[in-house]
Amino acid sequence: MRRNRRVKIVATLGPASNNEKTIRALFEAGADVFRINMSHATPEALRQAHATIRKIETDFSRPIGILIDLQGPKLRIGKFESGAIRITEGDILSFVRRESVGGLGRVHLPHPEIFQAVQPGHALLLDDGKLRLRIVEASDVRIDAEVLTSGTLASRKGISLPDTVIPLAAMTDKDRADLEDALNVGVDWVGLSFVQRAKDIAEARKLIRGRAAIMAKIEKPSALTELKEIIELADGIMVARGDLGVEMPVEKVPGLQKQITRAARNAGKPVVVATQMLESMILSPAPTRAEVSDVATAVFDGADAVMLSAESAVGKYPVEAVATMDRVAIEVERDPLYERIIHAQRIDPEATGADAISAAARTVTETLNLAAIICYTASGATSIRAARERPPQPIIALTPIPGTGRKLAIVWGLHCVLTSDPKDLDDMVAKACRIAYQEGFALPGQRVIISAGVPLGTPGATNMLRIAFVGEETPDAQ
Ligand code: PEP
Repeated sequence: MRRNRRVKIVATLGPASNNEKTIRALFEAGADVFRINMSHATPEALRQAHATIRKIETDFSRPIGILIDLQGPKLRIGKFESGAIRITEGDILSFVRRESVGGLGRVHLPHPEIFQAVQPGHALLLDDGKLRLRIVEASDVRIDAEVLTSGTLASRKGISLPDTVIPLAAMTDKDRADLEDALNVGVDWVGLSFVQRAKDIAEARKLIRGRAAIMAKIEKPSALTELKEIIELADGIMVARGDLGVEMPVEKVPGLQKQITRAARNAGKPVVVATQMLESMILSPAPTRAEVSDVATAVFDGADAVMLSAESAVGKYPVEAVATMDRVAIEVERDPLYERIIHAQRIDPEATGADAISAAARTVTETLNLAAIICYTASGATSIRAARERPPQPIIALTPIPGTGRKLAIVWGLHCVLTSDPKDLDDMVAKACRIAYQEGFALPGQRVIISAGVPLGTPGATNMLRIAFVGEETPDAQ
């Protein structure tokens, strides 16, 4: 089964979709990767989703990625005696460290780290940014803030401090427990929420120890100041526009989306554009024109994947939402301007063997009008570099390692097939041509280009390119 687009689709599972019938329908409609959001999902729901996805994967003989999204250090205020208080513009609200129940003008803040980190002048946002305050005074035990927007503040609402770097570990106890569960079950990507520093990725890597790839969610202003280092250390990046639009003025999000997408593409790290892409489809079977345009922008920008959250997790039309993304992506990639726009953003190869081979493969493919680029890959690294070139022809990644195929399911343009390592060079060519034919990428008489490492099966040794004819005998070759 092949997709007719290069951009990938990530669909979040939730109560509306975490059952075999719907997951199957979502996959058939176009979902390449399933996301399980641990802010809402139970370990049992994760296990159930995992078992179902792996079953569907076997039925379709196609690697499917699983991404778990850890909740991260979400900060919340304490409780109010009355459940909620009214705050009015111009009032001073005191946030106190001492264990207590809040009341009029006073809020319990059960996060000691915040008191040491904030400074007068810093912004303080409550309830997803609906209520805005500015800190006027801060000590080890109390923070006074002036209310800038009036409203009602209820118990346990979230608090954001976009100007403050808070010395919080990137992972809470809940995250560590969820992570351990997920790694035991066997997931392919781990999303880290509220990453603030490159160091957060390094800490997560120590826990994950190569058992899954790391996706850094960019949603804090402090992450933007270390973006280059974060991209370098992470395996993938998510433009988490939901929280980013709370922590930053919402009008800055489109520009940041472009910057982050470009920086990740430059580094050859898969980048996912997330949140509210087809928000109205939570309740409606058809998207708005603006939503279609939003998906199209991410596709024109060359993002690796576009993501559905509530649309597929709790919405009334999860399958229709995936089918809509699929149709929009196919149409955009057929647009006469698409290749030109993608080409204009192409990045120079780095001085490595894998990049030199990938750039050469693209040039040869374009010059000779070859049918496909076929990469033998163990870790997936070579095919990610081939995808970084954003070639117009399809890329087939051949790997003997199921985990590699699943990880690559999120990467732009990669069609992954599991196959054993070839015995020798003749077998390498025969296998590649046969798979290109069987998977519908090349016809007898067409030519393909194959990249591999010799000696065969050695990770990190990509060092050869071979042009091969898909012959008449290929379809029956063993
Ligand atoms: C986001 O904030 O955009 C996001 C993807 O994270 P979450 O869904 O966990 O809030």
